[in-house]
Amino acid sequence: MKIVTSLGLLALAFPGPTTALIGYGIPMYKPNCAFACRSIFESAMLMCSTDEVMSGAHSHGTGPTPPDCRAQDESWLTTLAYCINATCTDVAPWRLEKYWADKNTGDPKVQPKWTYAQTVAVLDKAEKPTEELGEDDMIMSTLTFDHDTWEGYRGTLAAFENAETMHSRYGIILLVVGFATPIFFSVLGYLPWMSTLIDKLKPRFVYPAILGTYHVRALPFFLGNAPTIGQTFYIAMFLILNIILTSVGYRSFNPNLWFATQWQEIMGYISARTGVLAFALAPLVVLLSGRNNILLWLTNWSHSTYMLLHRWVARIFTIQVLLHSITEYLLYKDMGEVATEQVQPYWVWGIVATIAVVITVVFSTLYFRRLSYEIFLIGHIILAVITIAGCWYHIEIRFTRNWGYEFWIYATCAVWFSDRLVRVFRILKNGVRRAEVTDVSEDIVRVDIRDIRWAAEPGKHTYAYFPTLNPLRPWENHPFSVIPTALLTSRGHSIATATSSSSTGSQHSQTNDVEKMGPLATVTSPVSIRGSTTAGVSLYVRKSTGLTKTLASNSSLLTLLDGPYPNNSTSGVLKTDRLILLAGGIGITAILPFISHHQNVKLYWSLKSSAGGLARDLDQAVKNVREREVSVGSRFDVGAMLDKEESEGWKRIGVVICGPGGLCDEVRSQVAKRGRMGKTVWELDVEAFSW
Ligand SMILES: Cc1cc2nc3c(=O)[nH]c(=O)nc-3n(C[C@H](O)[C@H](O)[C@H](O)COP(=O)(O)OP(=O)(O)OC[C@H]3O[C@@H](n4cnc5c(N)ncnc54)[C@H](O)[C@@H]3O)c2cc1C
Repeated sequence: MKIVTSLGLLALAFPGPTTALIGYGIPMYKPNCAFACRSIFESAMLMCSTDEVMSGAHSHGTGPTPPDCRAQDESWLTTLAYCINATCTDVAPWRLEKYWADKNTGDPKVQPKWTYAQTVAVLDKAEKPTEELGEDDMIMSTLTFDHDTWEGYRGTLAAFENAETMHSRYGIILLVVGFATPIFFSVLGYLPWMSTLIDKLKPRFVYPAILGTYHVRALPFFLGNAPTIGQTFYIAMFLILNIILTSVGYRSFNPNLWFATQWQEIMGYISARTGVLAFALAPLVVLLSGRNNILLWLTNWSHSTYMLLHRWVARIFTIQVLLHSITEYLLYKDMGEVATEQVQPYWVWGIVATIAVVITVVFSTLYFRRLSYEIFLIGHIILAVITIAGCWYHIEIRFTRNWGYEFWIYATCAVWFSDRLVRVFRILKNGVRRAEVTDVSEDIVRVDIRDIRWAAEPGKHTYAYFPTLNPLRPWENHPFSVIPTALLTSRGHSIATATSSSSTGSQHSQTNDVEKMGPLATVTSPVSIRGSTTAGVSLYVRKSTGLTKTLASNSSLLTLLDGPYPNNSTSGVLKTDRLILLAGGIGITAILPFISHHQNVKLYWSLKSSAGGLARDLDQAVKNVREREVSVGSRFDVGAMLDKEESEGWKRIGVVICGPGGLCDEVRSQVAKRGRMGKTVWELDVEAFSW
């Protein structure tokens, strides 16, 4: 039975067309009747067979009977044709002819000396065969076949093909569901009758975190970021879908001629299923992590949501990879073939990919990301490449691109390369720039890049490269919020009173503690606009422990920009009666661009005394906001602030927050709580500096 199993696996390595997936463009063993006939006789010796020993289940060799031997051997041709003619009574003649041409000799390039029709004509003239394949395993005349053996092969092949078709189908389902779910929910939002329902759902599912108020703040013990309730639904749905698609749709055939026991048969199917499902998840894992993830443009889900989903889908991918490796091991152990298989290159590459995936998941935990983000990033990419290469050689060596498994890898590589390619195009489009870097405080610099003309939309970030800062890692780049330079030099947007720094006499209180910090009158605009151009973008960078630490005053710093990219969908908050802009410290950079995009804005900005330089630098821009409260050295009472806004009777209030994780999480939780009460509709946009 072991030999039969090996033969079955050899059949899996038998060449087939490579245009799609099994069951979807690749017919594996169709017509089953003809494949079953060939299976009965394929290991038999012909007069022209050589002494070469069969070189094993995964051999690339042709064994003792090469294709040109089969092509010329009349006994082989008539024996095979007799069986096909007797059993394939309901198969169209052209299909049989195609089967004959493609599969008869084992090499479609070597055609049999007679067509199928010619061989049947030869048979018609001869006597009906009576002799079956004997003990000597030789075909020296036209042989008949044992019907039970034929039925055994037919059922075995049909069950195997059915299982492989299911693997493909479930892989496609997984990929489509993973990809289409964000599109589906985004499209729902455009249906007219959905808006009221969505208003009710958002504070219940979209805003609140699943674990207390942890979302931007990491969970204790470096456990990572807790998802929101809505994100949890996606993760749970996808996990359950994976469990279902891994568990259902297996059909056993007994007595099976490839697998000695039903346990082996089902274990074989499960190992293949988990392998295919892991492959199907791979393009999704890569897509979700991409800057140029097409879903960012097709949906209103944020980049940070996709990053979070990337981590979860990658974990599910890892589980599938591990299941595949474990079930394969158990199967071969049960067959007593581990010792021979584990030295095969395909097996070794499979182990390489499995280990690489596990290491990737471990080293992607928050602890390691925080230890050194750059080392994490480089290691992450290298491990991903090893994983993909391991998967590639695993299937390339074993199946030589016969069964379409490689298309999942092509798709994964296509997603990865297209993201990288678009990044390069974006950088080239933005051009090689010289930035002016100005110290605005001890730990904050302003980077002005002139002549960049980007649409002045809020909620955008760009990745900045400063290749000369660290020549050893010129590729290093970091995300920063984009402020149109014109905003810093502007004399006031449409509704603002540029010179107003005192009460306008309106019901809204104004505090401008910035004034307490020094002689603002001496502050000059960062970029002169007179007789020049307002085009350009400015980044405010707080120096951290890596590359940003080395940013210092410079009049001509080589800079490349990859962007702009959207953070979150801003359409919700911008379609409100009142827009509350909340900034904590350097978080003002993400907040400022919203000012000129809403007619009824109130800015709350709290910052530490040490950030006085930032406040002074942004004085002109902040003064353009008619209603503002700038608090230096003290924190806002978020709850009281939101209560006050609500009490003013606005029907729909938008809140944009950018600041430290704790502030972001508090605002998220407070807005969600008020939204659930239902008096006012609240829209929330958290522009966090992490994902
Ligand atoms: C959408 C977005 C907008 C941002 N806007 C601003 C801004 O306007 N001003 C500002 O000062 N900071 C901003 N940040 C934070 C800024 O990107 C990091 O402070 C900066 O990358 C740190 O660089 P470093 O080399 O000094 O990092 P390190 O000190 O080595 O790392 C500090 C932390 O920064 C984060 N980080 C580092 N590199 C990256 C990266 N390539 N991608 C994502 N996170 C990274 C990691 O969480 C890391 O733990 C923003 C972050 C995001 C995600």
